[in-house]
Amino acid sequence: MGQFPITRTATPKARPSDDSLAFGKVMTDHMFLMNYEEGKGWFNPRIEPYGPLSLDPATSVLHYGQAIFDGLKAFRGDDGRIRLFRADRHAQRFDRSARIMSMPPLPVDLIRQSFDALVSVDADWVPRKAGTSLYLRPTIIATDVMLGVHPAHSYLYFLILSPVGSYYKEGVKPVRILASDSHVRAVRGGTGEAKTAANYAQSLAGQQDAAKAGYTQVLYLDGVHRKFLDEVGTMNIMVRIGDEVITPPLAGTILDGVTRASAIELMRDWGLKVQERAISIDEVMQAGRDGTLKEMWGTGTAAVVSPVGTIGYKGEDVLINGGTTGEVTQRLYDAITGIQYGRTNDPHGWTS
Ligand code: PMP
Repeated sequence: MGQFPITRTATPKARPSDDSLAFGKVMTDHMFLMNYEEGKGWFNPRIEPYGPLSLDPATSVLHYGQAIFDGLKAFRGDDGRIRLFRADRHAQRFDRSARIMSMPPLPVDLIRQSFDALVSVDADWVPRKAGTSLYLRPTIIATDVMLGVHPAHSYLYFLILSPVGSYYKEGVKPVRILASDSHVRAVRGGTGEAKTAANYAQSLAGQQDAAKAGYTQVLYLDGVHRKFLDEVGTMNIMVRIGDEVITPPLAGTILDGVTRASAIELMRDWGLKVQERAISIDEVMQAGRDGTLKEMWGTGTAAVVSPVGTIGYKGEDVLINGGTTGEVTQRLYDAITGIQYGRTNDPHGWTS
């Protein structure tokens, strides 16, 4: 990947051991940067030593949050090859987020190339231990220096990398989730479909309340009726009732999860019936009470799948599958990680 100018660091950092890795605490030696100015477009793509950004205190992103990001992973396979999982789809979603946040359309191919270029410069940082990976965090911030509220005329793209440990260091542990009747995440016409900073800032209070009540994550219900499932924490949600898998539709309030899309495709390959439709919390709780709620799980880049062992709503807890990991959840985990680490073939061409 020689097409971008590279300034290499003169002071490489010591790499942490694969055993000590957590999530997002250590960054690699380099970052990819690119600028945008209205009339000029995106320019000056380059790789530089990782380091602080210098921003004027009046920079618009610091005040009005015009910012987007995405998150994807590179895996070192058992064969030693490094694979990115669904990088094109992540680049496309990044572009979708940009449009929702009134940013100019992105040079999607260039963004995609920046992933490969930076990962190849910092390839040594892709950890080797089972379950570990290198997390890629592409981000765009509005960089106009002025306090008026407006879509910016200048932006900075940066891509940083962080080696991350296995999400399931201590084995898969089903989580307890709380369907919140006090916090909502997004409404139609808002920013729920964008991966934008504000969505995460506003999720903190609900997360804190759920933790205080003894739950791991918040299950958000729709903002209008407070009735239909939206998302759980930073994951999409899926339930299996009887032999049918149901997941909320992409209707503008939830993120179009790459793991969600992959799971749906795999389950359909396997001949399972998957419905993308609105599903109410009452339907889920009732299925839990009458024993037809077979399993429930979240999907996301961080965990791949996260089984839900207990769901709480209005003071009632329902235990799912005896609080253990269900069979479809486990099958999805094995299939997706098999593709990511190159252990199985990749019929859909998701890795590159
Ligand atoms: N919803 C939200 C709000 C998220 O932040 C994420 C993580 N990106 C997801 C769902 C899952 O998306 P993906 O499978 O693409 O990681």
